[in-house]
Amino acid sequence: MENKKQNGAPARLQRIEFGHQSVEERIKHFNDFTIALTDEQVHMQAMRCLHCGTPYCSSSCPLHNRPVDFNRLVRDGKWRSAWECLNATSNFPEFTSRVCPAICEAGCTQYYIEDAAVGIKTIERAIIDRAWLSGWVKPLAAAVHTGKRVAVVGSGPAGLACAQQLARVGHKVTVFEKNARAGGLLRYGIPDFKLPKDLVDRRIEQMKAEGVVFKVSTAVGAKEFPQGVHSDASRVESAAKVLRDFDAVVLACGAETPRDLKVKGREGKGAYFALELLQGKNRVVSGELKTAPVSAKGCDVAIIGGGDTGSDCVGIARRQGAGKIYQIDISDCPPEKEDKDATWPDWPRKLRTSSSQEEGCERLWNTATKEILLNDKGEVRALKCVKLKTKIDPATGRRGFEEVPDSGFEIPVQRVFIAMGFLETSRAVLDAFGVAHDARGNAAAGLENSASPFATSAAGVFACGDARSGQSLVVRAMSEGRRCARAVDLYLMGESDLPEYRL
Ligand SMILES: Cc1cc2nc3c(=O)[nH]c(=O)nc-3n(C[C@H](O)[C@H](O)[C@H](O)COP(=O)(O)OP(=O)(O)OC[C@H]3O[C@@H](n4cnc5c(N)ncnc54)[C@H](O)[C@@H]3O)c2cc1C
Repeated sequence: MENKKQNGAPARLQRIEFGHQSVEERIKHFNDFTIALTDEQVHMQAMRCLHCGTPYCSSSCPLHNRPVDFNRLVRDGKWRSAWECLNATSNFPEFTSRVCPAICEAGCTQYYIEDAAVGIKTIERAIIDRAWLSGWVKPLAAAVHTGKRVAVVGSGPAGLACAQQLARVGHKVTVFEKNARAGGLLRYGIPDFKLPKDLVDRRIEQMKAEGVVFKVSTAVGAKEFPQGVHSDASRVESAAKVLRDFDAVVLACGAETPRDLKVKGREGKGAYFALELLQGKNRVVSGELKTAPVSAKGCDVAIIGGGDTGSDCVGIARRQGAGKIYQIDISDCPPEKEDKDATWPDWPRKLRTSSSQEEGCERLWNTATKEILLNDKGEVRALKCVKLKTKIDPATGRRGFEEVPDSGFEIPVQRVFIAMGFLETSRAVLDAFGVAHDARGNAAAGLENSASPFATSAAGVFACGDARSGQSLVVRAMSEGRRCARAVDLYLMGESDLPEYRL
């Protein structure tokens, strides 16, 4: 557990991060390897809060969580009130306190002054874990029912948050999910070592007790999905039927279409989309599958894409017993030290190393893949790459890349995982509901600064989460789900007691 002396702060007021099992230990399994803080350490973290009059931590958080308030309550030992404070703005703090990059901490004044933000994420986790253990988290079934029926398409964090808010104000909510189990990318994308799935199951059970009906293995509006998008659906509900049966529809179906790598050799045996690896392994860990459909065992691996999805592939491949792992990024390496004067309280660009990358991976910056080289059996044998350098377009000032002449090189690998981001939500679903797309192919719908927040071009059809914004973060999806629920409630009832959000 890191406990460096920070700018002369007395030892008892230093920032403390979650502990981790050693790399050697944790790569032997797929389970959570973090070590939570002790009560005393959490108390000390809470004491580091400056209780700023203008708390940028709160405005930085897409949920507008109130760390200044819950930190004070934890400092004073008022844990139940701290949980009530957190629960007022967040439906699932156990998810964000494990997988959120903690945008709030980048907005923390202690981060600006001391380079060591208050450990808001560790405090959040301590509060919610204690709340579950203490039996404070209970189903909140509505006392009065409105008689209105809402269909939510997709059970990721956006769909779940939206459905929970709507059920709690008395609407009859059905969540449709094309995959076998609910949870979206919480379930079938993010690895178990970052987010154990019993935490997702526990919330689904709570929501069922609140009256939410889950129809899994049921696709809405489309039978076929783009290449690289998984579906377990054994049933299809047409858009027309859903529109007939429900008073409002929320499209929370994510932005699952993966960006492909269009190079020679892409069809080779051993080249996969990232989610083919991640999803398969999560299904093995949960017992849904006996063996992983895709494995990196005994292979040298190239992961194309420098983001979180790529980093998750590193962690899974390492645990499966891969040899050398390369993570390839076209961008240049970010600076070790951020320029806080230019960015604070916004999220700064700086070099970050994930726990998976710590487990052994060579990161290749400014590198583009030209070809996947195959052997005579059509199997991946190497990646042909070139180095890039940054180029500024003199006309627009935009940054781009150009190849460095004669910089070609080969990396011998037997597995390639493409983790180059996600393009758009499923067009077929939008078209089935007659919903207009935005320029990126997601559902066109505005936020609170538009006349009808979260409303699409089709009457009574709303959109939230990645399906509206494009692939983003769990915390943003949850925030959009909550806010969309208020918009739907207003549409159905003409008024709403659900919390109002200001941009
Ligand atoms: C590998 C990976 C790792 C990530 N790690 C992190 C992380 O550590 N931290 C973080 O904050 N964010 C992370 N993200 C991003 C985050 O998971 C997403 O932004 C978030 O899950 C979006 O939530 P959502 O509810 O909008 O969509 P999703 O979670 O994508 O859920 C959409 C659901 O809709 C279902 N669906 C789609 N079409 C239909 C249909 N027609 N009928 C029925 N169901 C349908 C899908 O099966 C899916 O279950 C990660 C993303 C990936 C891919």
